[in-house]
Amino acid sequence: FQLLADLIKLQVFVAPHQAIEPDIAALVCEQHGYVFEREKREKGGGVHKVEEVIVEPEAPADEPEEALKLRPPIITIMGHVDHGKTTLLDRIRKSRITASEAGGITQHIGAYKIEHDGKPVTFIDTPGHAIFSSMRARGADITDIVVLVVAANDGLMPQTLEAIAHAKKAQKTIIVAINKCDLESANPMHVKSQLAERGLQTTDFGGDTECVEISALNGKGVDELLDLLALQAEVLELKANPKGHARASIIEAKYQQGRGAVASVIVESGTLRTGKPFICGPFAGKVKALINDRGEAIKEATPGTPVEVIGFEELPRVGDSLVEMENDRTSKKLAGERQEELRAERLKVPQKSRMEDLLAHAHDGGAKAILRLILKTDVQGSVEAIRNAVLDIESDKVDVNFLSAAAGPITEGDVQLASSSDAVVIGFNIKVEAKAARLAKAEGVQIKLYSVVYELIDQVREAMLGLLEPET
Ligand code: GDP
Repeated sequence: FQLLADLIKLQVFVAPHQAIEPDIAALVCEQHGYVFEREKREKGGGVHKVEEVIVEPEAPADEPEEALKLRPPIITIMGHVDHGKTTLLDRIRKSRITASEAGGITQHIGAYKIEHDGKPVTFIDTPGHAIFSSMRARGADITDIVVLVVAANDGLMPQTLEAIAHAKKAQKTIIVAINKCDLESANPMHVKSQLAERGLQTTDFGGDTECVEISALNGKGVDELLDLLALQAEVLELKANPKGHARASIIEAKYQQGRGAVASVIVESGTLRTGKPFICGPFAGKVKALINDRGEAIKEATPGTPVEVIGFEELPRVGDSLVEMENDRTSKKLAGERQEELRAERLKVPQKSRMEDLLAHAHDGGAKAILRLILKTDVQGSVEAIRNAVLDIESDKVDVNFLSAAAGPITEGDVQLASSSDAVVIGFNIKVEAKAARLAKAEGVQIKLYSVVYELIDQVREAMLGLLEPET
């Protein structure tokens, strides 16, 4: 299963026992510290014929224990707007710059690494959960611990609840920082009781959620927070193999005048070095330069380290994996294959809206996403009930728009409407006509069927929060 998961990360979808491309097999082997040997046969004109291999999913895929070394924990700060996430990130970054570096300019590369009590800790520098969920949507789940910032004078707010939901869904350890405790109006006890109501009982109330009262403004409690993070990192025993081929996750990407496509990554395993060829999404590249969070050019970056990479052919996407390749030839070949696959994919089924990736398109512009729905139910009575329940779901990121809502089976007409207006068809206790099902498949229209009202409402709500897992 590890192997299948790895393949999915590489955007390769295969069934167990299905043959995979040799380059991909090599890539997976490399990631796990194995050497993939090709069988070569001379064929006319000296062309090497590469045999296809079958990789058994049960094959041992874990890194050998002795190769694993401790790596810094990767922290994401989440919480409601104005509760002090940016102030906290700035405070931690500035207070950790040692005297010798005091004059150095800190460079925003999407994440930074500090040392606390001699132990490294990496912070994702973009607060909020947009990056968290867009990375997760791509299977790039690099955060180890979520710091939930809650302002002591304000308590739990909508985005706090969203952050809790995201972190829980991703099964992340949550550490709560009750911020703004310097204020007269601060009421940390109230925050703790609110947290307990949400299933996050703090340790001083007999629960297991670590919590610390801080002021990001004057720095009080921030050291304790860092102690807690270091402690938690030890408990989690975060390890990676610094040897072997590098693998990193894109956390930011932009075009820069004179430098081309530049992306910030966090190294997940192996050591990223200048001069090495790599593949990232469907594009090949070569590490031309590595810049750390102090703006210095460095030669290599170890696991858990954020670093800016120059040398992309095209702008990668946040959450894509950069994987070091043996040489330019293999990286270019694999890139070509991936591009071909994408092209074929695009030609095959026009990509329509899906509930699962509703928010993926909403992050960038800041404009609200629109979830267009066509609702079909068993009886007229349930039409309005479901429609109203869905319209009652609150979201500041998504507007719901019912194109039609009626009783009866899902017909070809419904699917046509969905296809032309980029909508999702929802059925409650009804059947899909065979012709409609065929058309939906051909047009890439999503049909979701439910027989329990709560499930329907819950899934729509999760979709609107970006929490809905893709169907398998
Ligand atoms: P963000 O939206 O969560 O990133 O919040 P910011 O870090 O931008 O902070 C919002 C406002 O709260 C700013 O005016 C900060 O100066 C203020 N603020 C942040 N932390 C504290 C704190 O610990 N105490 C007080 N009194 N104000 C704070």
